[in-house]
Amino acid sequence: MDADTIFAVASGAGQAAIAVMRVSGPDCRRVLAGLCGRVPPPRRVSFRRLRDIDQAMVVWLPGPGSYTGEDSAEFFLHGGRAVLTGVADALVALGARPADPGEFTRRAFLNGRMDLTEAEAVHDLIAAETEAQRRQALRQLDGALGTLYGGWGDRLRLLLAQQEALIDFPDEDLPPEVEAQVQVELAALWGEVAAHLDDGRRGERLREGLVFAVTGQPNVGKSSLVNVLAERDVAIVSPIPGTTRDALETRVVLGSVPVTLVDTAGLREAADEIEAEGVRRARARAAAADLVITVEEPPLAGGGWGERAAGDPGPPPPNPLPQGEGEPGIGILVVNKIDLGGSVPAGAIAVSALTGEGLAELRGRLADAARALTASAGPPPLTQARHRAALQEAAARLAGAQTAELPELRAEDLRLALRALGRITGSVGVEDILDTLFARFCIGK
Ligand code: GDP
Repeated sequence: MDADTIFAVASGAGQAAIAVMRVSGPDCRRVLAGLCGRVPPPRRVSFRRLRDIDQAMVVWLPGPGSYTGEDSAEFFLHGGRAVLTGVADALVALGARPADPGEFTRRAFLNGRMDLTEAEAVHDLIAAETEAQRRQALRQLDGALGTLYGGWGDRLRLLLAQQEALIDFPDEDLPPEVEAQVQVELAALWGEVAAHLDDGRRGERLREGLVFAVTGQPNVGKSSLVNVLAERDVAIVSPIPGTTRDALETRVVLGSVPVTLVDTAGLREAADEIEAEGVRRARARAAAADLVITVEEPPLAGGGWGERAAGDPGPPPPNPLPQGEGEPGIGILVVNKIDLGGSVPAGAIAVSALTGEGLAELRGRLADAARALTASAGPPPLTQARHRAALQEAAARLAGAQTAELPELRAEDLRLALRALGRITGSVGVEDILDTLFARFCIGK
């Protein structure tokens, strides 16, 4: 148990009608009495005058049934600077100290109120920008991942016990099928972990958001398209080729997934060094993108495809881009400026950033792609790199256990796999990662 009693404003910054101040720690009851005279009845909203500082709603939440598991209190204060400073000063005078980022949730984890995947979900739920992200975070907060990984851990512990029995009592008459059972269960468990890992990073992509690169020759209307997709003027639209020198990033929501549209500099031979740098960055961004949107002009407008017979697919898009590592490359070909007339190759989407023609279809196709790239229904998906690394370790140890030549070596592999799984939920040795993990949190969480 932490000895300090901590406090923090849990609501947002700036003036507001109401601000929430949280207090937690062993001294909470005394601090509460010091601030509002009488300690209110537990878990009931009470109205109190806080000395000469404010009138507030106060809730006394004795541990262990509180968020942190410690004695806690919450104050619903008038949300102005002088009130918050006044209450904070009074709390310090009473012996409490301002909380570090994520310290309330860290205490909740250390006191066994939630596992690490749930603590991480608190962060993700607050950070969620779209409904799909919110659903994924809430599911994790409800314990979906903790249950999945904890369940695998339980099965591993059983396997380890059986394996140890095989080692400790080689000459006793253990049922002959134990050895075979261990093999079967080991293979099944490895298969489940491997399938969970092989998910196209759909949960991680939803959590982090996607990157769509918009590429094509200068002046085909990339910036104009990004503008209309974003429904606001973010990119610089100019009739002079090559003015979008740096990659411009615009956040949009497509299919309930946050997507960063990267409007690349015209991918052509650069005229000067600054432009060359823009082209280099654009290529790097586009190469790492989840989806590449290639924009062209219809042949009549830009002359890009020249004289082409019907059915001739024409030349490949300009400057074909390398795809992201290990990902199946997906791309959408968009023919812009269709208002100027001209033909469109099969599979391409014809649009006009100027008149709005075809934009609904384009939005629909992009939203479908965003949904296809991210998690939706089905079993709870892997949501972050920390979990992936630990699961890869667990899968490698389970694979090792299957081919281990000595029973002792198999038992050691099982122990290491169990340890890797335990680090995800925080049931074993995670002291070293807690600082990094909770430092990302805001103060008050
Ligand atoms: P970028 O260099 O590919 O980013 O192209 P811009 O978005 O800067 O557009 C280049 C020029 O094409 C500008 O003058 C735009 O107004 C014009 N433009 C963009 N989209 C359309 C369109 O759909 N139809 C027509 N007629 N002109 C367009």
